[in-house]
Amino acid sequence: MKYYKTPLNEVTRWEILRRSQRESPERYKKKQFYKAYVAKDFENVDFEKLFTTDTFVWKSIVGDYIVTVSFEGAFQNLYYEVRNWSGVNRYKRITLKMLTNCLSKALDTEDLYLNCSCDDFKYRFHYWLSQADAVYGVKQSVAPKVRNVKNNKGYVCKHLLAVLFGKRWVAAAAKAWYNFIQANPELAEELIWG
Ligand SMILES: [Zn+2]
Repeated sequence: MKYYKTPLNEVTRWEILRRSQRESPERYKKKQFYKAYVAKDFENVDFEKLFTTDTFVWKSIVGDYIVTVSFEGAFQNLYYEVRNWSGVNRYKRITLKMLTNCLSKALDTEDLYLNCSCDDFKYRFHYWLSQADAVYGVKQSVAPKVRNVKNNKGYVCKHLLAVLFGKRWVAAAAKAWYNFIQANPELAEELIWG
């Protein structure tokens, strides 16, 4: 198993939620009006990448925008649980619940890499998250001159808050991961125990 670990950015789910609640209570409150839907058009999860680099990328549609959340550690969580298993068809013993727990635990404890396609993210948060090495995708190197100049409005926009708070998408993500393993048993065997 190959396992890469990038430097810690210390931008975790709970830190984001806590800081946003403290610094941006209005924005924090608005998150409840948003539901996150799986961004089906993107068919976005590269499960081979999840197994080979332990990087999980998930996209949701929130309002009119696309929210991306990425983190490491989900495969490591699974690996520690199953590494000593033996026998033919051992992949069949991996359950949906196990995968849900592996993802959920990684989401709660690992550094997050985030993005949203909205203007609030673009003009207020993109630069500061880039500074914290917590952006998924292209970084923003130009500091805001008008909006959120002091970096005191929480970490993220309300769309990202909705996705990070609700966690409803984790079940859908686990199901997709489960389906990938069951549909590709030989590949799963190689990627997990090879
Ligand atoms: Zn947004």
